[in-house]
Amino acid sequence: MIKTKTFYFNDLRECTYVVWDESGESVIIDPGCQSDSERERLKKFIETNNLKPVKLLNTHGHFDHVMGNAFVVKTWGVKTYINPQDKPQLERAFSYGEMFGYSIEQPPAETIDVNDGDKIEFGNSYLKVITTPGHTRGGVCYYTEEPDNKIVFAGDTLFAGSIGRTDLPGGDYDDLMNSLLKKIVELGDDYKVLSGHGPETTISHELSTNPFLRYE
Ligand SMILES: [Zn+2]
Repeated sequence: MIKTKTFYFNDLRECTYVVWDESGESVIIDPGCQSDSERERLKKFIETNNLKPVKLLNTHGHFDHVMGNAFVVKTWGVKTYINPQDKPQLERAFSYGEMFGYSIEQPPAETIDVNDGDKIEFGNSYLKVITTPGHTRGGVCYYTEEPDNKIVFAGDTLFAGSIGRTDLPGGDYDDLMNSLLKKIVELGDDYKVLSGHGPETTISHELSTNPFLRYE
């Protein structure tokens, strides 16, 4: 059974998720740790729980979600998984961060592509990939297929009460709505949503309260 731990990192309170199962193998989703103390908190959690990170998964390439990529890759020797359409974002993370006043370590350029339907395996478990363009061209969500433990890691596609912004480079409102209504909502009402920022929610809660999803 998959377990998760949420960290809120950097000034933008980006959500970093550690995901693991009974084997102790884990994946780290969107490491946004920026300061030494944030890096230390992540490392300490991994060590205290005897976890073994085997993969780094990015939902998209925005700088606040990849600030800790270099640290995670160096510390645990893992590879970075990201959709190829967001590789340009990843490559620009340093200069993009600078524009917003952040000095970040450039994420390692070597990556492994993720695409619709891919299974990302770790331990005895896996996460599946759906491509969800709109916030960025190469945005993806990762989700579980455990019947009693349905979770989708939604990145900046869907938030509690809101949706991802589409005014940044590569953003597209129609694509985002398509991703939300044809892909994320289709996962099912009972999915728990762990977003790139803010508190967790569920698909059913968002369908009844999120103004962007009340389309009838
Ligand atoms: Zn973003």
